[in-house]
Amino acid sequence: MKDKLLYEGKAKQVFTVADNPNLLVLSYKNDATAFNGEKKAEFQGKGRFNNLISAKVFEYLQQKGINSHFKEAINETEQLVEKTTIIPLEVVIRNVAAGSIVRRTGITEKTIFNPPLVELFYKKDELGDPLINDDHVLLLTDATEADLTKIKKMALQVNEQLQAFFKEINLQLVDFKLEFGRNASSEIVLSDEVSPDTCRLWDIGTGEKMDKDVFREDLGDLVTVYDNILSRLEAKQ
Ligand code: 5GP
Repeated sequence: MKDKLLYEGKAKQVFTVADNPNLLVLSYKNDATAFNGEKKAEFQGKGRFNNLISAKVFEYLQQKGINSHFKEAINETEQLVEKTTIIPLEVVIRNVAAGSIVRRTGITEKTIFNPPLVELFYKKDELGDPLINDDHVLLLTDATEADLTKIKKMALQVNEQLQAFFKEINLQLVDFKLEFGRNASSEIVLSDEVSPDTCRLWDIGTGEKMDKDVFREDLGDLVTVYDNILSRLEAKQ
């Protein structure tokens, strides 16, 4: 099914699909990077966990009516998706203060945001993905005001659904990053991945961090934590 390597990112490879220009295969790597690629490591099994966790998240979101690029997991480390042109934005939704917002604004960690906070970052590695505002989005991307309204609305809907999804497995969804793309019909759909690499997840009982912060902050064994999340998701069904 998978044909030529189209692109290699920090966490995934993207392949074309033979005979279907509207599809891609995402192949999840075992590499972990943090701090804009400054910290790097490889974890055996990480690609499998992120592929399987992200597939479960996208399946759930599709059941809840969120349009996305996701088609199906085709094996343990790869999934088939609709080809989209990614809008170079990282849309971050925050329910609880953690990470960069604490460093940037001095807001106390664990402050609850109600309503959730929406932040936009310009997806550009060379610039370290800077925080931008709506006007910058119109200037820097081909997204229109209506597109941006739609993107923010979808991101908040994803938040509503995912808060419930993770609560069922005793995890608090602290914050997460989404990416959106345009498909062949020019529709804006949720793209990329949703996994413990792109979300902050705290155990509701113990407060333990169960996401990529384990790697960023050297808190323990990343693969054990990701394995635990997948086991909880598999036990849920
Ligand atoms: P922060 O802005 O606090 O660093 O990140 C907010 C949330 O978005 C966290 O859940 C973090 O994992 C996710 N996030 C932000 N930027 C990136 C990125 O470039 N890559 C990944 N994997 N996640 C990101």
